Order: sequence, then C-alpha cells, then structure tokens
Amino acid sequence: MERSIYNFAAGPSALPVSVLQAAKKGLINWQGTGLSVMEMPFTSPEFTQIQDQAQASLKQLLNLPPNYKILFLQGGAYGQFAIMPMNLLARNTRADYAITGHWSRRAAIEASKYGQINVVTDTTDNNHTALKPEYNWSLDPGAAYCHITTNETADGVQFHKLPNTRKVPLIADATSDFLTAPIDISSFGALYASAQKNIGPAGLTIVIIREDLIRKPLSITPAVFDFSQLAKVNSKVNTLPTWAIYIASLMFKWILQQGGLEEMSKRNKIKARIIYEAIDNSQFYHCEVDCTCRSKVNVVFNLPTKQLEDEFIKQATERGFLNLKGHSATGAIRVSLYNPISEKAVSSLAHFMEEFALPYKQSATLSTSRCAP
Ligand SMILES: *Cc1c(COP(=O)(O)O)cnc(C)c1O
Repeated sequence: MERSIYNFAAGPSALPVSVLQAAKKGLINWQGTGLSVMEMPFTSPEFTQIQDQAQASLKQLLNLPPNYKILFLQGGAYGQFAIMPMNLLARNTRADYAITGHWSRRAAIEASKYGQINVVTDTTDNNHTALKPEYNWSLDPGAAYCHITTNETADGVQFHKLPNTRKVPLIADATSDFLTAPIDISSFGALYASAQKNIGPAGLTIVIIREDLIRKPLSITPAVFDFSQLAKVNSKVNTLPTWAIYIASLMFKWILQQGGLEEMSKRNKIKARIIYEAIDNSQFYHCEVDCTCRSKVNVVFNLPTKQLEDEFIKQATERGFLNLKGHSATGAIRVSLYNPISEKAVSSLAHFMEEFALPYKQSATLSTSRCAP
C-alpha cells in the first residue's frame, strides 16, 4: 500500500506503512491469543514477551554494553528534564548544561529547580546557528554530569562530534536523532529519547543509563521516576505504556530488517544532502546553520519573506508535502528526515522546492553549494 502524502512532521512523525500494517494485527488479535495488545495486563506473560522482544532488539541495534540498563517510562523528554537531575543530583548537586537551542534551554531551566546549574556554553548570541568550540566551554570537573542535546529539533543543529567531558558523565537528550545513525553508548553516562520522533507513538520514553549511575535519587523523586526502583523491576513500577512499547518493538525490528543503524545513517546522509543542496543551490532558500553542525535529521531553512514561507507551506500542503511548518519558537520551514522518510519523498520535495522558487529567482545562474558534501 502506498500513501499519496509525504509526512515530514517533526513529531509525532511518520511511521513505515509495513509497521502500521503489522500493528493492525496486534490491535485486534495478537498472535492468535484473541487479545488486543491494548487489553493485556502489563504483567502478563504475553506483554512481558513483547517488552522483552523490544528490549532485545534495541540492545542488538545499539550493541549495548553489558553495564547499561534500558528503562521504559512515561513523561516524555520534557519529563526527563526534571527526572534526570532528580536521580543524579542527590549526592553532588552541581551539573553542567550546554545551551545550543530551544530544547537544551528548556532542559537547563527545568534542571535548575533541582540543583546548581552551570551553563558551560550558550549559543543564544548566534541565534543557535553554530556550536562553539569545546575549548570555550567552561566545564566544571566536579560536576555530577554534563547535559547536551545531541540534535536540536527546533533549530536544526546537531553535534557531529561529542564533547569530551573527561571524567564527568555525559547525559544526552537524544530524542530526535536516536537510532538515525550508529552511536557509541559507552560515551554516555545516560541518554534519553521520547518515542514519537524515531521510535513510535507518543507516550513512551526510553532511558539508557550506566549501572553505576543508578543510585538513591533526591527524596522528592516520585516512585514512578526513580531509576533505582525502575531498574529493579524491569520498569514495571506502575502500568507501562504497553501499546507504545509494542509499536516500538515493531520499529526496532523494522530497523534491524533494513540493515540496522549503519544503513539508517547511509540513507539519512543522502536525504539530508538532497535537501541542503536544494537550499544552497537555489539562490532563494537559505539555511542559517553553520556547515559544521547542520542537522541530518531536522533541516531548518528560510525563504526571503514570511509571506513567501506561508505561501510555500500552502502550496506544499496542496501537493501532499505535509507538516513543513517550523517549530513555533523558531518559525521558518522544517523538513524532518526521520528513518521512515524515503529518499523518494525527499527528492520529490526537492523538486517541488525548485519549481516553487523558479518565478522568484533573480538570475538563472546557480550559486555553488555553501557546504561541502
Ligand atoms: C520533541 C523533543 C522534546 C520534547 O519531547 P516530549 O516527549 O514532548 O516531552 C525534547 N527534546 C527534544 C530534542 C525533542 O526533539
């Protein structure tokens, strides 16, 4: 089955049609049990099998080192902005935060309710269009952790190389680039991602944490967000988001079948290059983000005027290119290129962009690409 629309939403975002079709089976009668996955007790053997499968596939995808735990929670990434400090700032109350865009700023503000937050770098002065070199960061060697947002979903900025925080554990909000490329988990103390960008439906948050960081949390921490309790009972402190975990298990399996994270990365690089070239060669669209940190996942760009941006979105929507409006905090146009987005969808959009720009172009000569491929 082909859908005649292309959904470029930033989240909740597109899922592969084959995953939706597989989900349909679990909706009414999961593996001949006569039960919908939604109707199963979360402690039942049937659901436990689904959860174990999800966990096993994710471990395989990530090549997870044995000293890391996978936790399933609710509350979203925004919930983790509070839950991480609650769990990690009981003994040492100081934490470093890198502010590189909309989401990391929110993370730092939320964390400041629970500890002493030191902002190590802040790119507000360049409007979050470029990361600052690490030698300019004011890292605190005594911090409990250093928090970054690997990909700023609203600003289109991505770390292409992780900062070296030495002995201080690196904690990452990886929500929007999780599973889009291979990742060395051992570089992180912990990372988290809410599901609705790359994993499945909203309602599930995945936390991956090194075992030695799972300790007694701040005493105000709700039991359902206490990592030490969650780790003890396979995340079953209270009812799990069972349906979302089921779809996540189907997504993990789908990524494995496609060839794993290497293959995702290969495809995502091609997709990103198609859109950035369409922008850079256009003399019409422009991307403010520095070449060294342009996101391969969320491509954010502008047209010459706000009016033209509105017209672009209107015409794109009519043509079946949906959800291209940028984040409410940043405006502009945003193309989200998560794993299920096909190269065909992206090249069709690039073609539309070229067509749309044609009447507005000053001259027919093309400028050369601003960023080397
Ligand atoms: C979407 C997003 C969030 C917010 O996620 P919720 O699940 O709505 O809490 C936080 N951080 C990043 C990087 C995101 O992309």
